[in-house]
Amino acid sequence: MVLLGAVLISVALAVFVVAPLLAADGARQQVLPIDVTPLADLKRRRLVVYENLQDLEFEYKAGKIARQDYDSLRQNYTAEAAQLMLASQEAEKPALSGHAFIEREVLARRARRRAAAPPDEYTCPKCGFENPLPVKFCGDCGAAIVARKRK
Ligand SMILES: [Zn+2]
Repeated sequence: MVLLGAVLISVALAVFVVAPLLAADGARQQVLPIDVTPLADLKRRRLVVYENLQDLEFEYKAGKIARQDYDSLRQNYTAEAAQLMLASQEAEKPALSGHAFIEREVLARRARRRAAAPPDEYTCPKCGFENPLPVKFCGDCGAAIVARKRK
């Protein structure tokens, strides 16, 4: 029963990993001798992982490999396959142009800086002393400070 489960899982995994390769652009990639895009590289690595899994399965069934080794190796391959799937999904997203990427980075950085900076300025409205810390009363003249939003 456990073995059946293991076989079912590996079959499902095989379909999961290979089906997108066959469905999408397998034919197109066969025309080109070497596709050097990152996405193609990820797909190749996925195929390699899949082959390794098949070999592992075969060797385990042939009694060439200990259960413990089989389990840990299979876990490694499965994790790697999952990681490659994720990476492929990332790579398949419409790529941000260089400009849009920089813009997004700048916005994110600004947001981070805003979050890190003290939100208010504590400049005294009476004497103009810039209190370096959030205070309720001016450190210089003792006037009440109402925190203003930093522009
Ligand atoms: Zn003051």
